[in-house]
Amino acid sequence: MYHCNGHPVQLILFDIDGTLLWPKGAGRESTRAAMREVFGSEGSLNDHHFGGKTDWFTLAELLRESGHTADDIGRRMPEYEQVIAHHLGNMIGDFPIAPCPGALDLVRELITRNWLLLGLITGNVSTTAPLKLRAAGFDPAWFAVGAYGSESTNRNDLPFLALERAEQLRGHPIAAQSVIIVGDTPADVACARAVGAVSVAVNTGFSSRESLEATQPDYLLDDLTTFFSQVLSQPARTGR
Ligand SMILES: [Mg+2]
Repeated sequence: MYHCNGHPVQLILFDIDGTLLWPKGAGRESTRAAMREVFGSEGSLNDHHFGGKTDWFTLAELLRESGHTADDIGRRMPEYEQVIAHHLGNMIGDFPIAPCPGALDLVRELITRNWLLLGLITGNVSTTAPLKLRAAGFDPAWFAVGAYGSESTNRNDLPFLALERAEQLRGHPIAAQSVIIVGDTPADVACARAVGAVSVAVNTGFSSRESLEATQPDYLLDDLTTFFSQVLSQPARTGR
């Protein structure tokens, strides 16, 4: 069993964009097509900074001027999820989506440990997350639980959902100190802190190293190639 900060690790939750993979514009363009179709507007999408936000929050920000409230958007989320998945599915081959350095090797290694659960905490809606993962070479089934950007406007709600789902799956409580949350933005560090999990910031996304340092994550990595050596330890066996 791996340990981290003195606790056995039971659940590792990964952000997607900028952490596991680089979407290379696929997210923005599929969002544009879906917003136009469902809400008739894309707002100031071109200047929008997606990092760390949930897609529901992004839609609420972009559509405020055209009179859509966060609640309205929430009610139409099931429709939006269908529409954006359709658009992303059609266009995804046009974008050179790629895994971040070390991400595929890390996840492939971690899924061989049956005492460990992997999951997702992502701003992506639940229908686009698996499409992006597959395009970058990840099998979405490797991630046993997830919490998505279609489920709250507040990213800090997502780790609680993911943890609850992991506990249901395992059939026993999981201590927050046994959970690691990996992400590329200050918002990922904040959501780890909200639930009491270990935070691992990885500098492969769209946030500056300084902005990540300022949030004082438990670990700050250049990329996921050093996750094993810097974050996890395997304590020596004691006894006979
Ligand atoms: Mg991210």
